[in-house]
Amino acid sequence: MYFCCMKPMDQIFTQDDLIALLQVQGEQRNALFKKSNEVKNSIVGKKVFFRGLVEFSNICSKDCLYCGIRKSNKKVVRYNATDDEILAACRFAWENRFGSVVLQSGEIASPAFIKRVENLLKKIKKFSNNELGITLSCGEQSRDTYLRWFESGAHRYLLRIEASNPALYYKIHPNTKKHSFEKRVEALHSLRVTGYQVGTGVMIGLPFQTIEDLAGDLLFLKEIDIDMCGMGPYIEHEHTPLYQCRHLLKTKLERFDLALNMIAVLRLMMPDINIAAATALQAIDPAGREKALNVGANIIMPNLTPCDYRKEYLLYKDKPCLDEDAELCRNCIEARIELAGCEIGYGEWGDSKHFSSRN
Ligand code: SAM
Ligand code: SF4
Repeated sequence: MYFCCMKPMDQIFTQDDLIALLQVQGEQRNALFKKSNEVKNSIVGKKVFFRGLVEFSNICSKDCLYCGIRKSNKKVVRYNATDDEILAACRFAWENRFGSVVLQSGEIASPAFIKRVENLLKKIKKFSNNELGITLSCGEQSRDTYLRWFESGAHRYLLRIEASNPALYYKIHPNTKKHSFEKRVEALHSLRVTGYQVGTGVMIGLPFQTIEDLAGDLLFLKEIDIDMCGMGPYIEHEHTPLYQCRHLLKTKLERFDLALNMIAVLRLMMPDINIAAATALQAIDPAGREKALNVGANIIMPNLTPCDYRKEYLLYKDKPCLDEDAELCRNCIEARIELAGCEIGYGEWGDSKHFSSRN
């Protein structure tokens, strides 16, 4: 097994290799992490890039069975941050040399929403003299919408496949046209052909999910040749249907450990992509994101959502940083990154090297 993790980078990992690697423990796990950290440092470097996260609306037309802000959760107070609030958060990112922001929301496809995002993108590009990079994470949209947003200044898009095995996908989503697995895959394809740097990922430790599923997820990410990955542990939310299946879950610590293994193995499989240290890691272990930075991740998403809205963007239990304002959040993250022995790529976009080489 030890030799498995030492495979030269151009060698293909089989499903069996991946299943074995995802389960390593003790000394073998340390060897895996040492290798994935070395690969990260030598291929994408020691720098960690910031993506200031602005969760600008929790209004969603979908009903994903795991998500705290799903449409049918009537306990959520719905919000739509004003343009001024969104622009102020982005200005904070720019003035603090974050390099990039991520605008994230529930999935809405109305003409008004599409137009609004388009206008916001243009304004962000304008006030920052095109210096702020913009990632969008607003769900499945038409090809035309993706193009409009791309032409307005967004150049990266995050759309997690959530689970690449269709059978598992339909256990965590309603089996309706609106939640179609094929449409999600098609959306990832549309993003690629539009010209975005495409990021996707999965939740780790879902009920019904097997180690074979996770190995399959890694093969899926490799096969569709992603530029960026955001994946983290699934964490239950009591006001969602999937909460009924909590007796099937691994412990939180097991999910956390598995998530770190997934990050490390993906770094070996795809050495030059960007990998985010997901916020959900920190919901389980306060040092979760730093641990991810030490095993292969190179992107962190400090939360810049206006504080009053954060408690209404509760995707899962114990979501961290609910009451830290942007300034506090920045200080806390800077200290954490330094503790993890990494540097911060201030003012840099930190684009995916994989994307640049492909193009
Ligand atoms: N609505 C857009 C979408 O679904 O692509 C973007 C926002 S959505 C809230 C962002 C991500 O949150 C999802 O891709 C999902 O993986 C994650 N998420 C939602 N509920 C979660 C949970 N209970 N545990 C962990 N991650 C969760
Ligand atoms: Fe909506 Fe995204 Fe949550 Fe699904 S994961 S319910 S699309 S916000």
